[in-house]
Amino acid sequence: MTANLLDFDLDGLAVFCERLGEKRFRATQLFRWIHQKGAQDFDQMSDLAKSLREKLKTCAHVEALKPISQHDSTDGTIKWLFDVGDGNAVETVFIPEDDRGTLCVSSQAGCAVGCRFCSTGHQGFSRNLTSGEIIAQLWFAEHFLRKKFNTSDRVISNVVMMGMGEPLQNYHALVPALRTMLDDHGYGLSRRRVTVSTSGVVPMIDRLGDDCAVALAVSLHAPTDALRDNLVPLNRKYPLDELMEACRRYLAHAPRDFITFEYCMLDGVNDQPEHAQALIALVKPKRGAGEPVPCKFNLIPFNPFPASGLTRSSAATVKAFAEQLSAAGIVTTVRKTRGDDIDAACGQLAGDVKDRTQVDARMAKQRVIALTQVAS
Ligand code: SAH
Ligand code: SF4
Repeated sequence: MTANLLDFDLDGLAVFCERLGEKRFRATQLFRWIHQKGAQDFDQMSDLAKSLREKLKTCAHVEALKPISQHDSTDGTIKWLFDVGDGNAVETVFIPEDDRGTLCVSSQAGCAVGCRFCSTGHQGFSRNLTSGEIIAQLWFAEHFLRKKFNTSDRVISNVVMMGMGEPLQNYHALVPALRTMLDDHGYGLSRRRVTVSTSGVVPMIDRLGDDCAVALAVSLHAPTDALRDNLVPLNRKYPLDELMEACRRYLAHAPRDFITFEYCMLDGVNDQPEHAQALIALVKPKRGAGEPVPCKFNLIPFNPFPASGLTRSSAATVKAFAEQLSAAGIVTTVRKTRGDDIDAACGQLAGDVKDRTQVDARMAKQRVIALTQVAS
């Protein structure tokens, strides 16, 4: 089996090249060909010696993901479904906005956390994506979009790890992919514009701060342990006080001076005035009752699916909740839904994959979550 060069960040590629007897600058050239120019074929890489190209052909390849389908929304959002083998598929969503282009990237096929309001959580865990499969989503989308818009300039300016899966439960694959996103020889994205979203894997929040500090979004969804235990089962392992401590520690490393808290608005479950009050007490405790957590809130109207048994809060409830947080001095936004006509909104199912793509019937069991928008 030959090595998939998408699996490596630049340091990893340098080690690989050294083993072939090549100097680091060769790795840099190779990395730029792959990520900046979208090259897959070694013969295209004209400034690499022919002998190196021949060597690479025997021991390496650049393995892209196979798109099963592409859906284009009238609002410019594009959603791809990629085949990752064994009947599994993951989804990637591009969301264009006036001042940026955001790609929502998946980290796992399925998810083991099992949040009640999340379709991926309901379907369970299939497997971790490799680093190569994570970065391949950006590689594909960036070079596809450059061709589509007939430009050699970068199209994707922001990445959010808000697709399928819990990125901090696939930490070892995540970090090289993040480093490639940030590397000036790779995609050159700003740390502030790469966001990892987590349901709260406390030890890995600390490690991320040490290894690759990017913007952090934490999926909070509840102000108390009793409620959060029920909605986000991982809370039983890492309760709110530990999570808030981890957020405070992360801010020492973070490229932004706040954490984004995501909060999915569930009718009658977590959307009442007393929940907002408890949230304020959690992140802005009264003097002597603990340390505040510098944060912004992003309220996500729940995207329902039948098995959840939950419904979306009314627009008026969401508005009142946002106003209550804002009045307490917490910057609060309500996430707008994009790509509605192609089922690319937050947490929406990809639908019946089999019907839409004619792929193997097993694929139909796999549901894919797509999330739009970002911590801006
Ligand atoms: N596992 C990570 C990242 C993927 S989920 C996490 O949980 O943070 C990205 C965001 O979408 C999370 O905030 C998640 O809670 C939210 N989400 C999941 N299902 C949803 C749904 N049905 N409607 C709205 N938001 C949802
Ligand atoms: Fe997993 Fe995130 Fe869905 Fe929870 S919300 S089940 S952590 S993908």
